[in-house]
Amino acid sequence: MTSITNHMPTAELQALDAAHHLHPFTHGSDLAKKGVRVITRASGSTLTDSEGNEFLDAMAGLWCVNLGYGRPELAEAAARQMKELPYYNTFFQTTHVPAIALSARIAELTPGDLNHVFFASSGSEANDTNMRLVRTYWEQKGKPSKKIIISRKNAYHGSSMGSASLGGMSAMHAQGGLPIPDVHHIEQPHWYAEGGDMSPEEFGLERARQLEQAIHDLGEDNVAAFIAEPIQGAGGVIIPPETYWPEIQRICDAHEILLIADEVICGFGRTGKWFGSQTLDIRPDIMTIAKGLSSGYQPIGGSVVSDEVARVMDECEFAHGYTYSGHPVACAVALENLRILDEEGIVERAGTETAPYLKEKWETLTDHPLVGEARIAGLMGSIALTPHKESRAKFAAEAGTAGLICREACFGNGLVMRHVGDRMVISPPLVITKDEVDTLIERAWTALDVAHKRLT
Ligand code: PLP
Repeated sequence: MTSITNHMPTAELQALDAAHHLHPFTHGSDLAKKGVRVITRASGSTLTDSEGNEFLDAMAGLWCVNLGYGRPELAEAAARQMKELPYYNTFFQTTHVPAIALSARIAELTPGDLNHVFFASSGSEANDTNMRLVRTYWEQKGKPSKKIIISRKNAYHGSSMGSASLGGMSAMHAQGGLPIPDVHHIEQPHWYAEGGDMSPEEFGLERARQLEQAIHDLGEDNVAAFIAEPIQGAGGVIIPPETYWPEIQRICDAHEILLIADEVICGFGRTGKWFGSQTLDIRPDIMTIAKGLSSGYQPIGGSVVSDEVARVMDECEFAHGYTYSGHPVACAVALENLRILDEEGIVERAGTETAPYLKEKWETLTDHPLVGEARIAGLMGSIALTPHKESRAKFAAEAGTAGLICREACFGNGLVMRHVGDRMVISPPLVITKDEVDTLIERAWTALDVAHKRLT
């Protein structure tokens, strides 16, 4: 077979891709009609494609390249580890130094007594671990009926059978018979779309109290846990009203259920602090981590559990694990990523300097005729596209058409933003510079102009 390289003509790469590569979350007919974008290189916050076009990546890949692209130290950490011990497992009373060091470092960084890590290779795997772990925890405590996990509509917790069931994405549930039993979804705290005439504060309380109602209806003896992203990411960067999380915390404290904070996006600096739970003052029993843990340079995730959860789990052999749980190369790369994020003050600077600058600029987008609201927390933000600002109306066309037009206009203008229905979202690398923030806003504005012309 001829070797396939970055130097091949784009059309040939696209033809081979179309012939052999099945893509996640991509419609086959779009690939056939528009072809596929081939990304060949990246540095800092900039991507380059096979045609030499450059894009400011305001999504940090899939919300994960917190450190920015192209840090040689991470490549060197991987190479060093591959030479010394490329693989060994952590099953059957065995461990290795990278897994020891990374779990200890995560325990230092995570708040409260979240001191114990069960490794996986992704956020989906980690949430599957959580599903099995919380049920096993309650079985160990002599309460095997506590099985149901309460989650939220429009949440995203992954793509495996378990984690996609935990998630509340209707398009995912429409395929393949999801959700699996014993997962219950309550409504999301999305004031802009669903708050009607309520104030955000009233609405936040109303949505949080649905958790208490669900615990009551399902029976406290049957509920194992509640899972939520501190700020919903893939659902459209939905920042809950200020009243929401304190009430959720009160309800979890008042009833005997575990609280799982899915920090796969919010963790490792995204919200301006190390964890979204710190930004929103949440005290979870379990945290899901992935993405920013290695800045996406290696596939790694995990469940971080409290002293009490670990104590109970230590009383049994948890019959669960992945071949790559605590993969030494992934652990070594994650450790190096955490070292740089910390020692170079990247998380600190993102929170204290970049986030306030980005917020000021991001909020100017509400002056655009198409933008109904602009919200941002740390370095994750969203705008809502609307034909009528005052009523927060939706476009008459199929949901997502306006967002799609805007996303394509962004691409055409050297900017990667993502659309979620008619919301546009950003989650740039934490190392984005102030000049790049200015560029982001200028390009977003131009894309909004293009979309506005097409939509009105
Ligand atoms: N949880 C959240 C909050 C996520 O945003 C994601 C992915 O976007 C996942 C879990 C799943 O992670 P992965 O794609 O690594 O399986």
